[in-house]
Amino acid sequence: MIIGVPKEIKNNENRVAVTPAGVTEFRKHGHVVYVQAEAGKSSGFSDEQYAEAGATILPTIEEVYAIAEMIIKVKEPIASEYGLIKENQLLFTYFHFASSEPLTHAMIERKAVCLAYETVEKTDRSLPLLVPMSEVAGRMAIQEGAKYLEKPMGGFGILLGGVAGVKPANVLVLGGGIVGTQAAKMAAGLGANVTIVDISLPRLRYLEDIMPANVDTVMSNEYNIRELIKSTNLIIGGVLIPGAKAPSLITRDMLKLMKPGTVMVDVAIDQGGCFETSRATTHEDPIYEVDGVVHYCVANMPGAVPYTSTLALTNATLPYALHLADNGWKNACTTNEELRKGLNVVNGKVVFKGVSDAWNLPY
Ligand code: NAD
Repeated sequence: MIIGVPKEIKNNENRVAVTPAGVTEFRKHGHVVYVQAEAGKSSGFSDEQYAEAGATILPTIEEVYAIAEMIIKVKEPIASEYGLIKENQLLFTYFHFASSEPLTHAMIERKAVCLAYETVEKTDRSLPLLVPMSEVAGRMAIQEGAKYLEKPMGGFGILLGGVAGVKPANVLVLGGGIVGTQAAKMAAGLGANVTIVDISLPRLRYLEDIMPANVDTVMSNEYNIRELIKSTNLIIGGVLIPGAKAPSLITRDMLKLMKPGTVMVDVAIDQGGCFETSRATTHEDPIYEVDGVVHYCVANMPGAVPYTSTLALTNATLPYALHLADNGWKNACTTNEELRKGLNVVNGKVVFKGVSDAWNLPY
């Protein structure tokens, strides 16, 4: 198959969908790979590395779209790319169709085959192409939280791990899923006192078993959260109710219970956030303050660490991409139910119920 890897052009997107290691694998399977010049530059991969791995470098995005049977990307195509997409061309990328009606209509009109990373689903209902980004965001949440706890950054001025003779900071993690688990591990590793709250008792049991001694688990309810935040220095929001807006677990009135300089990192901001006072921010302007509490609500946290994020993402996407390239999308989706669930729009028709429901389109 002829594979095209364009350079991402969405604002501040530094990841790339295929690494030189991925090119090597495609070549071993007999496929041809075209990579747009500088596609991997922001992730730390040079054109020379891609060429050495066996890719052909093309100077423009137009050439990549024109030649490829399968386009592998990171983010959804943006308006300037719509016209480049050909009928029957397979696009394998994050789409998030339910959050963009123009994108949905554009892909229907282009009659492309759109296989969305975010809806590829395993039999245990986990989403293997979303997990790596939650892992990155969860770990990063502690790094960012620690930074903004510093006094010059507006925080309380406490070191997460303390030192001999001085107590460490208290970290509260809301939601013990992928984000919460990774955040708790990082905070615990730095020596903080960590509490994870979740509504799932089986999940709390599991976390209690695997976490180190400086991590406690507590049932998530308003009473417990109100008590915990009085002595918390850093709060990480990592709750998810699939397909729904995140619940506001920290309401505005609760901010008054906290110490000034408390830092709240709302990782769940991409689902509306789990603090009432959250609003999405950017890497350029990541924080703001409400009632003395620092809010960090960057919606695309992994974008700040493109080297790690690219490798984490491509580790997960490559086996699926190889299956698609080896078998063609029709056979690949017939033989692999996980991939079939990724099909969202096929040759002008919406084939994913969530997308048809979102925009009232035939299914
Ligand atoms: P997950 O499904 O693995 O975990 C969510 C957890 O929240 C589950 O354990 C669930 O039981 C728990 N939960 C649900 N309601 C709760 C409540 N009321 N109180 C406490 N816990 C509750 O999800 P995840 O992969 O960890 O993702 C968490 C969020 O982070 C998602 O919204 C995801 O989209 C987001 N995310 C954001 C970024 C970013 O850059 N901002 C990056 C990756 C993921």
